[in-house]
Amino acid sequence: MTHSTNTDQENCIFCKIISGEIPASKVYEDDETIAFLDIQPVNPGHTLVIPKDHFENIYTTPVMTWMRIQMTVQKVALAVKHATGADGVNVHMNNESAAGQVVPHVHIHIIPRHNDDGLINWSHNVYKDTEEMKTFAENIANELKVENGENEN
Ligand code: 5GP
Ligand code: ZN
Repeated sequence: MTHSTNTDQENCIFCKIISGEIPASKVYEDDETIAFLDIQPVNPGHTLVIPKDHFENIYTTPVMTWMRIQMTVQKVALAVKHATGADGVNVHMNNESAAGQVVPHVHIHIIPRHNDDGLINWSHNVYKDTEEMKTFAENIANELKVENGENEN
């Protein structure tokens, strides 16, 4: 396990939870990840899963670390559902402030949901027309080709 000591990391609240510098209600830990209760839960039992190494967001997290995070998320999601008597769970992630990310240490929210919790998920929109939808699909597919080192067309 490598831990660099840059300023971002030194000021990171989640790195401080990992090091034990600040307390957390931990529910799971392995060599690469930990899960603990969110201090301001959407619903009681709202749990965060994070890697022990500091990465800011989904883009910068190495794929093997990402896989380990997801393994923990799957395990913890079922435990949260059973332990809270939830009817469902939201598995959610914010990346960058525009998407609501406040803590710059990659984390996944597991939020227990109840049929009668009164929470409303975000609203949906529509495309202007099928042409606009097609353009978005093509642009994303092209970006993926660029990521894969294929030619953009
Ligand atoms: P974000 O908006 O970055 O996706 O979510 C960050 C989450 O971390 C928030 O839901 C917030 O309540 C939680 N959080 C912030 N500081 C602390 C803390 O010191 N301890 C714990 N357990 N959760 C925290
Ligand atoms: Zn951190």
